[in-house]
Amino acid sequence: MKPVNFDYARPGDVAAALTLIGDESRSVKIMAGSQSLGPMLNMRLVQPDLVVDITGIAELRKIEERSDEIVVGACVTHADFEDLRVPDVTRGALPSVARGIAYRAVRNRGTIGGSITHADPSADWISILAAVGGKVTLRGPAGSRTLAVEDYMLGALEADLQPGEMLISVTVPKLSPSARWGYYKSCRKTGEFAHAIGTFMVDPERGVSRAVIGATESRPFVFKDAKQLIGDGKSELRFDSQLAADLVDAEGMTDPLNRQTHVAALRRAIERAYTA
Ligand SMILES: Cc1cc2nc3c(=O)[nH]c(=O)nc-3n(C[C@H](O)[C@H](O)[C@H](O)COP(=O)(O)OP(=O)(O)OC[C@H]3O[C@@H](n4cnc5c(N)ncnc54)[C@H](O)[C@@H]3O)c2cc1C
Repeated sequence: MKPVNFDYARPGDVAAALTLIGDESRSVKIMAGSQSLGPMLNMRLVQPDLVVDITGIAELRKIEERSDEIVVGACVTHADFEDLRVPDVTRGALPSVARGIAYRAVRNRGTIGGSITHADPSADWISILAAVGGKVTLRGPAGSRTLAVEDYMLGALEADLQPGEMLISVTVPKLSPSARWGYYKSCRKTGEFAHAIGTFMVDPERGVSRAVIGATESRPFVFKDAKQLIGDGKSELRFDSQLAADLVDAEGMTDPLNRQTHVAALRRAIERAYTA
């Protein structure tokens, strides 16, 4: 199928984009890499009057390294992470995950902001960013606000994006030299969307340990204190798979096979963290 007719605008800065997006007289859709929006337009799942292409806005491609974090513009692509144009502050976690997203043509265009806002539960960025403690900053008619990545995703294909708002940047904390992380994506072929994701990060120097189960039917399950799953994490690994299964069950994943697949993904992520 072909999309319905729509007008197209390519503003040069965020202020101009927000003016266009805030036009309540017509339905407006933001376009970043168009890797998810394109198919939705073609299938007429979305039928906007106006598409606002934000890829020409320099502020959204900016990368700013600070003492304890890095701030990455919404239009930075998966390939930018893969090729280390974004300095790695995560001991290899984000470049490694970027490499496993789809295939190179998709990674060249797909953006971190588009992926998070599209809020596909099977997507990779939302899970790994929740594990490393990433945040998003939005700007709109009411000003700017910042929230945890996992809180930005409300459910399957639903982000906490208010009318007239756009995602401006993603902030990633710098992991300490002693931090460990693991990511396991269960999928049939390399580069496919995941059936189950397990991811884990422990950073003793900062006193943080987080475990995430992704590719659920909705938002990822985020365990903000992963010590309960692995003990103190300092010496030998003790993964409590029964506790993990109970926590997953409590989150509403009651199908035994589904639960087992997701708990196994988390176990493998934790094993990778301690064997890498
Ligand atoms: C064949 C194929 C395989 C794929 N495999 C994977 C995979 O294995 N793992 C994975 O994680 N992803 C995968 N993807 C998805 C890919 O990562 C997309 O890049 C991503 O989902 C959307 O990013 P985008 O920049 O293309 O956003 P777009 O398609 O341009 O936009 C997506 C949505 O976000 C909105 N949006 C975009 N940017 C902003 C912003 N700054 N502020 C507010 N709203 C915004 C748009 O309005 C739209 O609703 C795959 C895609 C394809 C086509």
